[in-house]
Amino acid sequence: MDEFMQAAIAEAKQGRQEGGIPIGSVLVKDGKIIGQGHNKRVQDSDPITHAEIDCLRNAGRIGSYIGTTLYSTLMPCYLCAGAVVQFGIKKVIAGESKTFPGAKEFMVSHGVEVVDLSLDECEQMMINFIETNPQLWYEDIGKSERISQNISDLSPIYRD
Ligand SMILES: [Zn+2]
Repeated sequence: MDEFMQAAIAEAKQGRQEGGIPIGSVLVKDGKIIGQGHNKRVQDSDPITHAEIDCLRNAGRIGSYIGTTLYSTLMPCYLCAGAVVQFGIKKVIAGESKTFPGAKEFMVSHGVEVVDLSLDECEQMMINFIETNPQLWYEDIGKSERISQNISDLSPIYRD
């Protein structure tokens, strides 16, 4: 597997170990990781700290985003896709989009190349998490009213 996606998965696993949501992200430029992070909404009690935002924040002020690629274990949501478009990041590689379709079309419509690797490992990580923490997950994607324990009727967002 792509070493950068492996690094993003390692971030996701670290987030899970911290009691958070298992989504990780890395920013790559010239074949090197220049930033990495994971979702810290639970850890920091901060709804804005998605994996991609944490990653971009950790990369700091890099000047230009030309030539950067953002990796995420899950297809970026509208919040993070907004940051991608705003900063001019032209390539996004997602681990999967089956458990959450994210904002792929939004990014593509703004000229971003989006690659979906459809990785079983990323999918399983999210399925296991959603099944054991449905409230936490639906709060993260702005569906906090959904508290059903039955994953099959949680949301049309979960597509099998
Ligand atoms: Zn996001």
